[in-house]
Amino acid sequence: MLQTFAHYGCHFLLPLVVALLFYKSNWKYAYLVMIAGMLIDLDHLLATPIFDPNRCSIGFHPLHSSFAILFYIFLCVPKTSRLVGLGLVIHIIADTIDCSLM
Ligand SMILES: [Zn+2]
Repeated sequence: MLQTFAHYGCHFLLPLVVALLFYKSNWKYAYLVMIAGMLIDLDHLLATPIFDPNRCSIGFHPLHSSFAILFYIFLCVPKTSRLVGLGLVIHIIADTIDCSLM
């Protein structure tokens, strides 16, 4: 129960907090782009079973590897890709919190 709450809380509330703090004027757009970072969870479809609540995504799925994470951090640097990068980094942080709660 606490785990489920933490999972959705981090995945949906963290981007919302960042959007409201740093993108006040167009927070809705910023929030939507960051929520799109959720799409990297599609790599779970490559794994069997697709969803395992006791498995840590970080380092297991291809889009959650350390190489991918480095790329997401790099995306935060240029202004044009910063929102996408932020969304992905927040997603990784949320997944890391998930893992530490296991
Ligand atoms: Zn994930």
